[in-house]
Amino acid sequence: MINIAIDGPAGAGKSTIAKRAASDLGYIYVDTGAMFRAIGLYMIRLGVDLSDTAAIASNVESAGIDIEYRDGVQCVLLNGENVNGLIRSEEVSDAASKVAVVPEVRKKMLMLQRGIAREHDVIMDGRDIGSAVLPDADLKIYLTASADVRAERRYKENTEKGIASDLESVKADIIERDKRDMTRSEAPLVKVDDAIEIDSSYMTIEEAASAIEDLIRGLK
Ligand code: C5P
Repeated sequence: MINIAIDGPAGAGKSTIAKRAASDLGYIYVDTGAMFRAIGLYMIRLGVDLSDTAAIASNVESAGIDIEYRDGVQCVLLNGENVNGLIRSEEVSDAASKVAVVPEVRKKMLMLQRGIAREHDVIMDGRDIGSAVLPDADLKIYLTASADVRAERRYKENTEKGIASDLESVKADIIERDKRDMTRSEAPLVKVDDAIEIDSSYMTIEEAASAIEDLIRGLK
């Protein structure tokens, strides 16, 4: 199996690019952030205090997470319910990065993600794919962009999806999540030595996607 890891901070364009490259090249796209989002949603629904890591840990086991592909689209199932439409709000983004600091959550996600990568050619995006989930990936990309550019992209995305947001709070949220993701003790976001860094601040998403597709084609 060929495994491609794409890591980087929120809003760098990972999912758009990984999705496009996967469909152009015939890989399965795995959005690992969506899995953490589903766990975040689960904890919100349970009313768990998101700063209480012990409470999160003790409820992880009952959160059944499955990934299915319907018409080529990744669907995250939370105890059998497709929650794709419920996990993109700022509230769930925040909850996802809070539950993601909990080792029990990470362990469960890592096992699931490795299982998928063992069985398919994948382009997997996240924060710890090259460092923890797929340390032997055939290609590792670290995709980044400045916080201003990432906030503007996320804001535009929200507007297009009809989600109300304001640029300043989107930016503040991105910076806060970056900090949490980069400083947590368990599998923090890092650029590993063998990753190729692409800064998409001054590239269009299409340019960044082509650059990554060229790297993937070069593997064969
Ligand atoms: O990529 P996305 O913004 O959907 O991820 C939501 C949150 O899930 C991130 O802020 C991060 O805290 C967490 N995450 C993670 N490891 C991954 C993917 C996402 O910790 N591999």
